[in-house]
Amino acid sequence: MNADTKSLRQMDQSHHLHPFTDLGAYSQKGGRIISKAEHIYIYDSEGNKILDGMSGLWCCNLGYSQNSIAEAVYAQLQELPYYNNFFNCSNQPSLEMAKALVDVTPEQFNHVFFTNSGSEANDTNIRLVHRYYDLVGKPDKKHIISRKNAYHGSTIAGASLSGMDYMHKQFVGLNYIHYINEPNWFADGGELDKNAFGLKVARELEAMIDEVGEDKIAAFIAEPVQGAGGVIIPPDTYWPEIQRICDERDILLIADEVICGFGRTGEWFASESFGIKPDLMTIAKAVTNGYMPLGGVMVGDKVADVLLSSGGDFNHGLTYSGHPASCAAGLATLKILNDSNIIETAKSTIGPHLQTRLAALSDHPIVGEVRGMGMFAAVELVKDKATRERLAPESAAAVICRDSCVASGLMVRATGDAMIMAPPLVCSVEEIDILVDKFAAALDKTADHYKVG
Ligand SMILES: *Cc1c(COP(=O)(O)O)cnc(C)c1O
Repeated sequence: MNADTKSLRQMDQSHHLHPFTDLGAYSQKGGRIISKAEHIYIYDSEGNKILDGMSGLWCCNLGYSQNSIAEAVYAQLQELPYYNNFFNCSNQPSLEMAKALVDVTPEQFNHVFFTNSGSEANDTNIRLVHRYYDLVGKPDKKHIISRKNAYHGSTIAGASLSGMDYMHKQFVGLNYIHYINEPNWFADGGELDKNAFGLKVARELEAMIDEVGEDKIAAFIAEPVQGAGGVIIPPDTYWPEIQRICDERDILLIADEVICGFGRTGEWFASESFGIKPDLMTIAKAVTNGYMPLGGVMVGDKVADVLLSSGGDFNHGLTYSGHPASCAAGLATLKILNDSNIIETAKSTIGPHLQTRLAALSDHPIVGEVRGMGMFAAVELVKDKATRERLAPESAAAVICRDSCVASGLMVRATGDAMIMAPPLVCSVEEIDILVDKFAAALDKTADHYKVG
């Protein structure tokens, strides 16, 4: 380890509490310090070059060399580094970003409320939904249905909306969130075929509405494809059934597109991929290509019309709602997406190449399932393909596989027993080949470790 790395790590271990990290272990062992990035590669302080198969944390969809974004932020900071959007003031980047988002999102969206993150945007969803039902004279509709293994952020509301037990155990969550099962066929499908399973889990929404009472349920929130939960691709039958239930039962549909949005599924938004029409849509992450913090809620006309025609303030906002520099980053990001054919190419060429190459690993002795869509995918590790028995308790095999990938210069993530990846949309065919080759080699090493195959 070089001297610089050593002193940086010492400072880090001594003073820096990291998110979603075993704090004690980290203070002893430290971590990898990422020093620079270029195109689809990150470099650590030791000079290791790593192909970033996760686009940062699902946010750098256009990779790390988008100078126009950096320049737009710098120019904005020189012109107007900050002003708030409270008290009847606005600024040009935020109003232009609002219009630019309306132009690229589905037709029902003509308004946006800005936040700094996906978590805050989901908090905002609750504020919007509660206000909406108060204004339409249904003040008992305050409850929200979410799903087990969902990820909606880590503020109190975000973590409450999330369906992760390991998060719920560590704080007191909101008491008006209810959870139905996720459409995770590989884990829970058993003998059912995918489409029958999709209908079955979708209808849990109806059952939960009946259980709590339609007069109390305000909204259903879901990621079109669960990201952090393990790139769970729902069966084809799932979303149409959810849409039917929301329509019939006077329930607002909130699509959390924080990961799915801005091209990840091969369309601008996954709501388009699945043909659903959400009333509210959460955005963050790739909206600025990860260059600046920005989140928001796209507010559909059904909700916006009520908010706009009511008297009285909407008593919600954040100091940095619509921050000019973040919005400048967002505008530059949307300009790249609008002026290039990156999303089209991801859909027509790069995504199918990634999925085809990964699908070919289905025959690998420790692969139980390969699933994916557009530019993200998951590979389930098993000991026995037929019974789906796992290689080792506590998802240890996935950690071995992940560490093996990183050692070979590929960043992927282990989620439970699934290996997940979401590479930048700007990868070339050759770069996808490098990614899959490195991943396949790590699978071999993992199989060797467990003496399988
Ligand atoms: C990351 C994520 C969030 C939270 O966003 P933050 O910016 O980390 O607060 C919310 N929803 C989904 C689907 C996410 O992946």
